[in-house]
Amino acid sequence: MNLSKLFKPFLVSSVLAIGLAGCGAANQSDKSGDEAASKPEKQEVNIYTARHYEVDDEIYKNFTEETGIEVNVVKGEAEELIERIKREGESTSADLFVTVDGGVLANAKQNDILQPVTSDVINENVPENMRDTDNNWIGLATRARIIAYSKDRVSPEELSTYEDLTSDKWKGKVLVRSSTSLYNQSLLASFIELNGEEKAEQWSQGIVNNFARQPDGGDRDQAKAIAAGTGDVAIMNTYYVGLLANSEDPEDRKVADSIGVFFPNQETNGTHVNISGIGLTKHSKNKENAIKLIEYMTSAEAQELLSAQNYEFPVNPEAAKPELLEGWGDFKIQELNFDTLGEHNKKAIEIFNKTGWK
Ligand code: FE
Repeated sequence: MNLSKLFKPFLVSSVLAIGLAGCGAANQSDKSGDEAASKPEKQEVNIYTARHYEVDDEIYKNFTEETGIEVNVVKGEAEELIERIKREGESTSADLFVTVDGGVLANAKQNDILQPVTSDVINENVPENMRDTDNNWIGLATRARIIAYSKDRVSPEELSTYEDLTSDKWKGKVLVRSSTSLYNQSLLASFIELNGEEKAEQWSQGIVNNFARQPDGGDRDQAKAIAAGTGDVAIMNTYYVGLLANSEDPEDRKVADSIGVFFPNQETNGTHVNISGIGLTKHSKNKENAIKLIEYMTSAEAQELLSAQNYEFPVNPEAAKPELLEGWGDFKIQELNFDTLGEHNKKAIEIFNKTGWK
């Protein structure tokens, strides 16, 4: 990866952003007069996030350096955070809610904890299909749920669709994590939306019948199980492939070397993609700062950093992708409204239970 190419524009924009932040501060003290100038209020923004990636903290740190606005982070499970924001009501300190699943973002909107964001900068940074229809949430990054395969034992020509993984030729060879993972719940929810409940159930049953072993561990563990010979193919998210390939642990890099990445359903309805997003809370006390942070997080430089370090696909089309992701090329994305992932979540869990996907 050419790092200097990635980071040069980053530095240039930092200088620009500092200049802009200076203008903003001047405007603000004009508005509030001398009192504000003598007793400057602490500039801060509070985030409740269900994302668990180091790069997020780095982006917040860069934002603080550029704007002087402090970012306070509360981490937790998405559903817990939604409940907490609801419970705290008007007194919540959360300005922003961040999570990794389109269904959960829709759920947050339905629970009435978010409000629409009006910003030309954000609308320019993020294409319409990567935002809620009312801008109650804004996409930050996407990941594809792909089929990883053993380069030694499988040729990519043998792979085609998610559905094909249920055929007899994959008996005892399919690796995938537990159905308690939102990643699998949203994958099955997408099949319910696109193919109907009956087909979705057949698919789940077919995968269970072809399990190489009972679900165990996270996505990375499925790749490791391919390398160990436990199974030949695994359903997993793209960014974990990137994290393994760039891990400090040589064993992880060996695992990444031994697997290929296949984007299924290219001839049919496309590869399943899920989205991370951010929403402004209904009772935000630092609305201006919160919107500034969303603008920053969706800017090309923050998006490039996010993609370079966490191997997610940027939502801002101006952002450069790391070499590994570029190497995978363009692929057809499963087209559906992210809201539907939340709508079918319960049904998906029901089907998993019925078909014995633990
Ligand atoms: Fe993850």
